[in-house]
Amino acid sequence: MSKKNQIKAVRGMNDILPTDSPLWLAVEAVCAGIFSQHSYKQIRTPMLESTHLFARSIGAETDIVSKEMYTFEDRNGDSLTLRPEGTASTVRAGIENGLFYNQQQRLWYVGPMFRHERPQKGRYRQFYQMGVECYGWSTPDIEAEVLSMISQVFRDLGLEKTELQINSLGDSATRERYRTALVEYLAQHKEALDEDSQRRLTTNPLRILDSKNSCVQAVLADAPSILEFLSNDSAQAFEDLQAYLDALEIDYTINDRLVRGLDYYNDTVFEWVNADYGAQSTVCGGGRYDGMVEQLGGQATPGFGFGMGLERLVQILQEQEAPIVKDLEQGAPDVFLVSIGAVARKQAIAMQAEMVRSGLHVQCHMGDGSMKNQVKKADKSGASIAVIIGDDEAVAENASIKVLRRTSDSIPQRTVLQNEVVNTVTNLLESL
Ligand code: ATP
Ligand code: MG
Repeated sequence: MSKKNQIKAVRGMNDILPTDSPLWLAVEAVCAGIFSQHSYKQIRTPMLESTHLFARSIGAETDIVSKEMYTFEDRNGDSLTLRPEGTASTVRAGIENGLFYNQQQRLWYVGPMFRHERPQKGRYRQFYQMGVECYGWSTPDIEAEVLSMISQVFRDLGLEKTELQINSLGDSATRERYRTALVEYLAQHKEALDEDSQRRLTTNPLRILDSKNSCVQAVLADAPSILEFLSNDSAQAFEDLQAYLDALEIDYTINDRLVRGLDYYNDTVFEWVNADYGAQSTVCGGGRYDGMVEQLGGQATPGFGFGMGLERLVQILQEQEAPIVKDLEQGAPDVFLVSIGAVARKQAIAMQAEMVRSGLHVQCHMGDGSMKNQVKKADKSGASIAVIIGDDEAVAENASIKVLRRTSDSIPQRTVLQNEVVNTVTNLLESL
């Protein structure tokens, strides 16, 4: 086939190749482990949802709903959308399955999300999010638990220079009062605003705070702060959260411009940011969304959660050469199985199964290959030990054991019966 006709991946959608997948698996395992230690359980929802779900929860004036969704009609003429984020689906599933009915829930999810954005480093059209959602708690203690989990994930991964920013958006009366003050201020600087922001002055002015346009950002520098408009209850809750963070020794800064890209938040919102990454600096963001369950037809249930972008997290870990990345680079098999001829190959494959059952990592040579060629491959694999079954060994039902990697003196090759190989190899590995 000519190069021109070669089928390529859809723009902005990436393959995760075997060079990177070990780190992805490790990151997911660290998160899943820490979530599970805090009694969170996974929820898996479909990638396709009815379009109404996102329009009704995320907000029609957000970037996501107004210009980024992958929406199409299926063969029945129903409007479906590839999920752009995980919260709306989780709420939908919770309502549909009665998870909020007189219950509290600690949930987590992982999976691909879809947004039609301009692809660039750290911004793709399919990207993975790992996230947490909690239902049934309106107090800041649950917020502290969630932020503590994230900070433990980052600590275990060895992520550096990623800082927590927090803000409070207050209740709806607060945002109403603040909206008026913000519009009053921004109206005086209308010429300096870009087209999007000018339109939002009438549709959804708080969204302007989220603008990545530098002229708009400059105007915003002197805008009023939402924190001056908080009700007593919201101000108290925000202070309580800060006291929890202090007790947990989690560093944070208060960023009163932080509104997040979705409309459904109230009170606490937060982001973990690595300033080295410009407009793609947010690794993880979330907040409280007490109105959403009711808005989607469930009984009023407070919600709190976050989504973490795994491409950004993995990329930063790689660029920082985090310890977990180096550990994985060293991940070679314990044993490489060399075998010559059909009888030896059968014995080798049976031996591989036995070794795997006892917890070893094993690579077995497949297909043709001379002894010399296979031993070379064994060396290249980085395995600590080669187990060799040649013609003679196959007949005698024994195997040669050769230590490939060793820090001090060399260990002579030895021959043992095949049913003693696993024990011998295990003992050798411990002594290396
Ligand atoms: P940004 O401000 O970077 O556009 P956002 O506010 O749209 O982020 P959220 O909807 O809160 O992001 O999603 C949570 C996380 O998912 C982000 O912090 C980011 O790490 C990741 N993320 C969001 N959009 C993308 C994307 N297009 N490509 C890769 N990761 C993304
Ligand atoms: Mg965005």
